[in-house]
Amino acid sequence: MNSLDAFANAKLSDLERGALRRHITETRRELWPDEGPIVFRNGRKLVSFSCNDYLNLSQHPAVKAAAVAAIEAYGTGAGASRLVTGNHSLFAELESRLAKFKGTDAALVFGSGYLANLGIIPALAGEGDLILIDELSHACLHAGARLSSAQTRTFRHNNIDHARKILKADRARFRHVLLVTDGVFSMDGDLAPIADLAALCAEHDVWLMSDDAHGLGVLAEGRGSSFLDGKRADVPLQMGTLSKAIGGYGGYLCASAPVIELLKTRARTLLFATGLPPASAAAAIAALDIIEREPELTAKPLAKARAFTRALNLPDAQSPIVPLVLGTAEAALDASRMLEDEGFLVVAIRPPTVAEGTARLRFAFSAAHKDEDIARLVALVAERVPFRNEIVACLPSS
Ligand SMILES: *Cc1c(COP(=O)(O)O)cnc(C)c1O
Repeated sequence: MNSLDAFANAKLSDLERGALRRHITETRRELWPDEGPIVFRNGRKLVSFSCNDYLNLSQHPAVKAAAVAAIEAYGTGAGASRLVTGNHSLFAELESRLAKFKGTDAALVFGSGYLANLGIIPALAGEGDLILIDELSHACLHAGARLSSAQTRTFRHNNIDHARKILKADRARFRHVLLVTDGVFSMDGDLAPIADLAALCAEHDVWLMSDDAHGLGVLAEGRGSSFLDGKRADVPLQMGTLSKAIGGYGGYLCASAPVIELLKTRARTLLFATGLPPASAAAAIAALDIIEREPELTAKPLAKARAFTRALNLPDAQSPIVPLVLGTAEAALDASRMLEDEGFLVVAIRPPTVAEGTARLRFAFSAAHKDEDIARLVALVAERVPFRNEIVACLPSS
């Protein structure tokens, strides 16, 4: 065997031994009106609790019609980078809608949320700067930090005191400091203390960036985690995705006009990647129409998640994401298989996505879930899933 294939096979066997090998399983979304988020997987029809399409907008007739009309009018692809010939007028419309919704001067749409973070962070922080990042931030924030030539320090999860200690000791050694965090943590479902972080950042002249991939569309009437308690936290860099509650694909940053202008000329994942298909922008605009028109829809995913946590005597869900920590990868896979046998798709999340010893089931609640399905899920979980959420709280912090 050649050394490349031998390398790949050896890696795969290692992963297999630790129950850490991943598989891409065909999962087909289908529209079954009145039955909630239905998927077909392994030949079976399942109610999915693993889609981030929180408002079911990927299946909404108006959103689909907007995408179809844009394909008919403009074709399937942008054809080039937005800086060359790929900048359709639908992008400007989407950007002004996003900026207005988020209360910023301007916005910039990227190919995906992952690409947005890989482009934004290195364009803002470089040599002589510090990036301060919550340890549980999404992989693409860490990846963006690694692409930058700034120094990176992690602070303990949601630990303002730790972040403050680092800033007190070291702020003066750096020209600029960028603090990055998820707004809603993607694998834990908890919220960053955004208002406190904003105050800390103001005190030390630090730029705050929040990734609200899981907040847009589902918190604060859809405006996201920077708008909780009826107040708008001072977050100058509000990043997010069009791929979750918006139901389509793409990423964005909402920020001031000068920051957006700078990124248009410096964010490498904007400059050197093809623009989104115009249909994705059209679909996102239609989805924003629905979110702005139906604030009661945006409240449903969290309400359903809370019904679940209350029924199981867990602390109230803070977002539509609820983790149940099982510990080992095998235990998480077993629980996931059991639920699949019972007609529910709840994918197991394993290291390295989460810390060693904290493999889990991650439930994502959607506006379309039926209360009776949630009740049946609760009964199964209470009886047959040996979760131990307290072990996350006891893990040593890095
Ligand atoms: C999903 C996710 C992303 C990536 O967004 P895509 O549009 O799927 O590339 C970024 N950040 C967080 C926190 C996410 O959960």
